[in-house]
Amino acid sequence: MAGTLAGRVALVTGAASGIGLATARALGRMGAALALVDLDADRIAATAAQLRAELAVDAVGEACDVADPETCASAHAALERAVGPPSVLVSCAGINAQEIKPLHEQSFAHFERMIAIHVHGSARMAALCVPAMRAQRFGRIVHISSILGLVALPWRAGYTTAKHALVGLTRALALENARYGITVNAVAPGYILTPVLEERIRKGILDYDRYAERTPVGRWGRPEEVARVIAFLCEPDSAFITGAVWPVDGGWTMRGDPGDDLGPRPEPVRGRDDGGSRQQSSA
Ligand code: NAP
Repeated sequence: MAGTLAGRVALVTGAASGIGLATARALGRMGAALALVDLDADRIAATAAQLRAELAVDAVGEACDVADPETCASAHAALERAVGPPSVLVSCAGINAQEIKPLHEQSFAHFERMIAIHVHGSARMAALCVPAMRAQRFGRIVHISSILGLVALPWRAGYTTAKHALVGLTRALALENARYGITVNAVAPGYILTPVLEERIRKGILDYDRYAERTPVGRWGRPEEVARVIAFLCEPDSAFITGAVWPVDGGWTMRGDPGDDLGPRPEPVRGRDDGGSRQQSSA
């Protein structure tokens, strides 16, 4: 398949859902062969089959818990045997905070799990992929931080710590690898309508309007809108962008707290989108 990543392999973790699936699809459209990783073996095999059929690219899936060193190493080796060494790595595997309460009231296992999946998982996959990227003198690594990698909210200490750490990891790896044709960047998504969160909104656990109102553009983002920025960072021509953190948050992090000085404001967007540009998401 033609495209700016033709002849290259892209490894995407968390590729069976949400931002990872949208990213895999975007990189496949750029011609990359897809090496896909997620927790459930059947689900990631089905995702690979779906993208193979849809995009006419090579795509293979391997089960892997990114928090587990052994499955990371075995999945990486199996994928490399199947499609070749990755020169693009996007670490999307992740979970939302499960215990929303002060740190001292959480189980410490919850805090550790947040760090293990997001930080250890991303660092481990990068460590596995960098040697072949250096040999190729080409690499694109993208980490998925969050608006909570840039600012903090209470009751989410594990998630916030993990997402801040990913910014540090991004910068350290960017410096280490800058002379080897490898760029390392992060994206910091705001509230993105992924299937898991859509389900929580349907069940009334999350309030769509509350977070839409806090977001200057007045709505949640789509996985494809995050994947678009990731795909841009993975372009061969994006070689001069490294160590950067890209908010994809509808303006959430640039908005200050107006305190009492609210002033006149336009109505928030009450629907789930801006009306004109909604695409069907299969993520
Ligand atoms: P998602 O739709 O749930 O996708 C995440 C995928 O990662 C799922 O398929 C999940 O599998 C998989 N996964 C979870 N733990 C894993 C592990 N230990 N090893 C391998 N795969 C694992 O979520 P998403 O919203 O796209 O999230 C992707 C990334 O974006 C996460 O790092 C998240 O923190 C970040 N993010 C999301 C938002 C948002 O609003 N959605 C905002 C900021 C940042 P299971 O479904 O089986 O658990």
